[in-house]
Amino acid sequence: CGIVGYIGHREAYPIVLEGLKRLEYRGYDSAGIALYNGENIELCKTKGKVSDLEEKVKDEINTSGTVGIGHTRWATHGVPNDVNSHPHYSNSGDLVIIHNGIIENYASLKKELISRGYTFKSDTDTEVLINLIEDVQINEKVKLGKAVQIALNQVVGAYAIAVFDKKKPNEIVVAKLGSPLAIGVGDNEFFIASDATPFLEYTKKAIYLEDEQMAIVRLKKGVKIRKIKTDSLVAPYVQELQM
Ligand code: GLU
Repeated sequence: CGIVGYIGHREAYPIVLEGLKRLEYRGYDSAGIALYNGENIELCKTKGKVSDLEEKVKDEINTSGTVGIGHTRWATHGVPNDVNSHPHYSNSGDLVIIHNGIIENYASLKKELISRGYTFKSDTDTEVLINLIEDVQINEKVKLGKAVQIALNQVVGAYAIAVFDKKKPNEIVVAKLGSPLAIGVGDNEFFIASDATPFLEYTKKAIYLEDEQMAIVRLKKGVKIRKIKTDSLVAPYVQELQM
């Protein structure tokens, strides 16, 4: 399983697709991608291989756009099928998430969200998390980063996540507990991946998030890291990779 993301000035699709191929060694049963073209989120996902995704993309979506996230899934909650594949939308369609890991208390969170009118397309724990984030965003009138933080403080489990909100198209919010997450830092462009291999050809500068950290990765502003529990800011430690 793996996650990949890109935000910058290049076409995101080839970077994300190639990145997913480089993460195939981690094992997976499904793959998917979401791209933002300045107006809409275009999403395509499938059970099967990254090469199957590549074929499906040709038929289904327009691949232009300079923001993208991609996922290879190793199913834990919900069988491997197209619907359960990531990315997952929130109910409004504004937010989209990729997730590696497990939300252990997803059943009680889901029940609560259903009682508030949320509906679910998939059987995944991940779709619960993205709607929890949306619920927090709406009810507490907070920005995406804060909503992710508040939601994650209600979660028991493990995760590497990347979340995109089309209302805030200059940023991707990421967080880590248990599963790995690296941020590649380029010249006003950023890469997100489970390990550095998807972005090594573009940048040798990498930030490895530590457990219980989240980051807002924002064009022009850079990477802002916080501890999820205590809210304290952490100075980003940018490593120069030798590979
Ligand atoms: N728990 C999530 C799911 O089953 C993510 C699995 C993964 O790590 O790929 O959809």
